[in-house]
Amino acid sequence: MSEMMSCEALVIGTGAGGASIAAALAEAGRDVLMLEEGAYIPAAEAPAGIARSMLSMWRGGGLLTTLGSQIAFAEGRCVGGGTEINSAIFQRAPDSVIEQWASANALQDFTPASLAPYYDRAATAVSASLTPGDAGPPTNILARAGEAMGWEVSQLQRAQKYCVGTNLCTAGCPTGAKQSMTATLIPRALARGARLTPNARVKRLLRRGSRVTGAQALIRENGRLRPVTIFAEHVFISAGTTGTPSLLARSGMARPATFQLHPTIRVLARFPEAINAQHYRLPLVAITEFMPELRFGGSVFTLPTYGMAIAEDWRRRAAWLPDYARHAIYYAMIKPDGVGRIRTLPGAAEPLVTYALTERDRRRLWQGARQLAQALFAAGAEYVTPSVVGHPGWGDESSIAGDEVIPAPSRTALMTIHLFASCPMGNTPMQAVDGYGRLKGWDNVILADGSVLPGAPGVNPQGTIMALSMRAADAFLAGGTI
Ligand SMILES: Cc1cc2nc3c(=O)[nH]c(=O)nc-3n(C[C@H](O)[C@H](O)[C@H](O)COP(=O)(O)OP(=O)(O)OC[C@H]3O[C@@H](n4cnc5c(N)ncnc54)[C@H](O)[C@@H]3O)c2cc1C
Ligand code: SF4
Repeated sequence: MSEMMSCEALVIGTGAGGASIAAALAEAGRDVLMLEEGAYIPAAEAPAGIARSMLSMWRGGGLLTTLGSQIAFAEGRCVGGGTEINSAIFQRAPDSVIEQWASANALQDFTPASLAPYYDRAATAVSASLTPGDAGPPTNILARAGEAMGWEVSQLQRAQKYCVGTNLCTAGCPTGAKQSMTATLIPRALARGARLTPNARVKRLLRRGSRVTGAQALIRENGRLRPVTIFAEHVFISAGTTGTPSLLARSGMARPATFQLHPTIRVLARFPEAINAQHYRLPLVAITEFMPELRFGGSVFTLPTYGMAIAEDWRRRAAWLPDYARHAIYYAMIKPDGVGRIRTLPGAAEPLVTYALTERDRRRLWQGARQLAQALFAAGAEYVTPSVVGHPGWGDESSIAGDEVIPAPSRTALMTIHLFASCPMGNTPMQAVDGYGRLKGWDNVILADGSVLPGAPGVNPQGTIMALSMRAADAFLAGGTI
């Protein structure tokens, strides 16, 4: 027998999009129930490192990959979603991207100026600001690298308050400094009467005519699964870029979705002296000269992330293990032309995710890795190795110049932590969701998460996801109903 619950506004998923819309609705006096598949892990219980957090906070144990063009990808699965395991970099989509999205998708009232107040609201909610304290060598090296090449280097704002640099952002934040959703908008929603049920996976939506009347979920408790049926007047789907289209498909409400991501290639840079990157925050600047098409940045560096980079090509790199203090990891990230697909499989917990990089994407990734390596040499690196299995690495700038042939996809280890646009918003007949996240053909369903981004922003997406969710909430509240 299924337990019953009811609410006015059911919010499915509590990441950047779900928490933003839940807080806006609760603060407007609506009766909100948040359901989240993952566990609630407060700062005081944050796992002691990335290996443990992958098991408890990352979707699929952090071991997900696209097929076709193989790209390792990561999403959060816990209360707060990806914001609990991310680096908290807060960026706004460039004006040129917003304008292109508006014109390509017939989006109305969608301009840099009309979105600015929502970005401001999102930035304020998470205290987006420059990180205090000594950023240390990983940041200084990247800044020097950009400056040596004459490229634009930008400081990055982060969702943080009094960050002390434990470098554990990908494992939750043990000090509570990271202004993730569990530190900001979820408590704000709860303070205004919203309810939160963690460990609750929505299996399917319940439909009658052109309305979704609620959802069926399974709540995990003490190792057991308890079925529950929720009745709702309005349903807000914020299950993330892979989760939202999967839930719609499981509920018989959509076809397989295409989506985009930011493909990223890493380089491991060795320096003549110890830089001890493991003691410092990830680089707090990015080289933005070529943005939004191409961006150079730096990754979190810990012993486990260094170990993973070594394990990628154990035969060649195992001897570098003791040398971790002289290494740092940087990346080149592109705004791709290629698209992927998300398909649900009967009985499978996670969807089948495929991606097809274009030839141009692959060329730009390889060029990006080589340009980045050149810049790192200019900043004092003595050896730079791209994330390509079997690649000997580059010992000087001249060896990069001659290395023009794009390595085989099967040897190139690509990754991404930014996925979006699986239900892109727009007012053309092609799109299933309008400019305010409303699912076309349904009277009471709004999508509010990375799935509705019209495409790849070329920058970190959390700020845009929050801004568009807050905008969707305002449109809903102004209309009263949809
Ligand atoms: C390691 C890492 C680092 C990153 N660094 C940055 C960064 O520095 N800056 C930045 O801007 N972005 C960063 N990102 C990306 C950013 O965190 C995400 O884009 C953002 O969190 C996505 O928000 P969302 O609301 O779309 O989905 P999510 O945050 O993924 O939230 C979706 C939630 O829905 C839940 N859910 C899914 N299906 C169901 C279901 N059926 N029932 C109930 N709940 C469900 C999931 O468990 C999840 O918690 C990073 C991501 C990762 C993984
Ligand atoms: S570096 Fe440490 S203190 Fe700062 S936000 Fe990340 S986990 Fe929190």
